[in-house]
Amino acid sequence: MKVHHLNCGSMQFPTSPLVCHVLLLETDNGLVLVDSGFGLGDIAQPAVRIGGFRRVIRPVLDSEETAVRQIERLGFHATDVRHILLTHLDYDHIGGVSDFPNAHVHVTSAEALGAFQGLSVFERRRYERAQWMRESTIVEHQPGTETWQGFSGVTPLDAIADGVLLVPLPGHSRGHAAYAIDAGDRWILHAGDAFYHHTTLDRRSRRSEIPFILRAQESFVVYDRALARRNRERLASLHASAGTDIDIVNAHSPVLYERSSERARQPA
Ligand SMILES: [Zn+2]
Repeated sequence: MKVHHLNCGSMQFPTSPLVCHVLLLETDNGLVLVDSGFGLGDIAQPAVRIGGFRRVIRPVLDSEETAVRQIERLGFHATDVRHILLTHLDYDHIGGVSDFPNAHVHVTSAEALGAFQGLSVFERRRYERAQWMRESTIVEHQPGTETWQGFSGVTPLDAIADGVLLVPLPGHSRGHAAYAIDAGDRWILHAGDAFYHHTTLDRRSRRSEIPFILRAQESFVVYDRALARRNRERLASLHASAGTDIDIVNAHSPVLYERSSERARQPA
């Protein structure tokens, strides 16, 4: 299927500019988004919807970067988006959801539990704005029974399209997930916030090579530190073994965003 790479939220994070890397899938059943970045509502009401933390992450909040505006520039309509697959429910991933009120919003049951029930103090603070999606139809997914590239609990989302897999990857948050997409000549694995810096995928690189502020942020918002570390190791191993057959991207690395965008522009 055709996959577009969209940056739906540049952030002027101190010393390390970040993006919100969103995938737009053209399927036989309409358009599908993986994550949604920031939306028009965030631009209209940044203090209410993003809160004080916006002074740290410093989102640019340009309406032209929102998924809905980029989709319109591609010649589609907001109503063409039938499904939104969320890696997790942090505000920089769900802000665009409200621009697509007709879309079904998919998330793991564990993530919905942590966000909507607020099981811990950490999660009550973290997800206070998850209620933005009150008007959306939420589809929760329990762990599946399949495996993919050594990852278990995988659910093929066949009802959406062939070649769209939900891959549970808890660690950054209680029910964080990745999505594997069959792009024809390669698979794309959107790993959300399982890691931040592109060098994480290189097993020879040292963690000290990653800017301190990104390592600090990674620790500050992590739900399970041991699981998050293991996820980083597993993704680096997959990158080493799969090479260019699997394009591993994440939500915030501008390097991986540019690299995958460039690859998508090249003829297969
Ligand atoms: Zn994020």
